[in-house]
Amino acid sequence: MSHQKYVYLDNAATTPMDPRVIDEITKHFKETYGNSSSLHSLGQKAAKVLEQSREKVATLIHANREDIVFTSGGTESNNMALFGVAMKNKDRGNHIITSSIEHHAIEVPCKQLEKRGFEVTYLPVDKYGVIKLDDLENAITDKTILITIMFANNEIGTIEPIKEIGKIAREHDIIFHTDAVQAFGKIPINVDELNIDLLSASAHKIYGPKGVGLLYMRNKGYREKRKKYMESLMYGGGHERDWRPSTVNVPGIAGFAKAVEICEQEMAQEIERETRLRDKIIKFIMENIDDTILNGHPSKRLPNNVNISFKYIEGESILLDLDARDIAASTGSACSSKSLEPSHVLLAIGLNPQDAHGSLRVSLGRFTTEEDVDYFLENLPPIIQRLRAMSPLARK
Ligand SMILES: *Cc1c(COP(=O)(O)O)cnc(C)c1O
Repeated sequence: MSHQKYVYLDNAATTPMDPRVIDEITKHFKETYGNSSSLHSLGQKAAKVLEQSREKVATLIHANREDIVFTSGGTESNNMALFGVAMKNKDRGNHIITSSIEHHAIEVPCKQLEKRGFEVTYLPVDKYGVIKLDDLENAITDKTILITIMFANNEIGTIEPIKEIGKIAREHDIIFHTDAVQAFGKIPINVDELNIDLLSASAHKIYGPKGVGLLYMRNKGYREKRKKYMESLMYGGGHERDWRPSTVNVPGIAGFAKAVEICEQEMAQEIERETRLRDKIIKFIMENIDDTILNGHPSKRLPNNVNISFKYIEGESILLDLDARDIAASTGSACSSKSLEPSHVLLAIGLNPQDAHGSLRVSLGRFTTEEDVDYFLENLPPIIQRLRAMSPLARK
């Protein structure tokens, strides 16, 4: 049976937009074009859509509407959080704690802060990619102003002990930020229960538009108490209460809110469905293909993430062969990026560079069907077999 559809298994990189989100955005591009700062009725209509959207996205993480600032995406939210806290608190301390498996959108800002006189501790992780709470406790000094640890890892899907991290941060009166781009909309998040002060999320990872994101900023106490621990990085026309000036992307934000609404309604059933497909893939590969390593935690992992290393071959070669069969996936192999080093995440969990080069990430999504998974599982073994037959590393 020929497979007509392109099988997209790279939902951790970005998701296709949900048609319901496209409808919503299209409607607002046509009708809600007023500037949300304008006083006329079209402007006020846009302002109303903006505030309704803010309410919607806040509800998903049990936050207050006023604690949400819309941004251009996860990267901007992360930069806003890290530089905002660093600049405001630099006289109090210059120490930041993060993990060794963060997304580049945290790692690179941290490196930049080091160039500007900040000290950054990169906590190690165990073989599953989980940080150790003792290491966190031990890393804290009286100069520590910020802890930033990702909610769930984008490569291996591991979910960090966010509640415990938040508790430690709170006990030491340190601001806690989490890059939740991979977790937001996928698994339940309650910023109060988890002691989160700052949280980054992005619309394009949850079937919304690219170029739209948010930063949740806890209001610690009375009016605009955020200004006590955060500084604005941009200056302009005062949009988003001065946190993020620039004419607001109301249609995109309305699409983000629609995407959140759908995630909220379908989360429970989607977690169940994707977990089943995820575990079907893992089980099949571990049982049918020799010399494989499951990367990431066996159970504390995102419902949509599979990451497996195939010894003796290159992840990039697997990708090209899959692509030739109309299947999209991803790899932590160096050849897919400009650097020569393989994924820092896979090295941090203790893989040797060779095994890191042989990694394949399969990330499922709302539109992934059982048929897609079966098509992938039908095509994968002959690809691995063929590549290993050509590999000088493989024992034959
Ligand atoms: C995708 C991603 C980002 C970047 O988000 P953008 O909206 O593309 O800027 C940041 N962190 C993680 C964990 C991600 O997966």
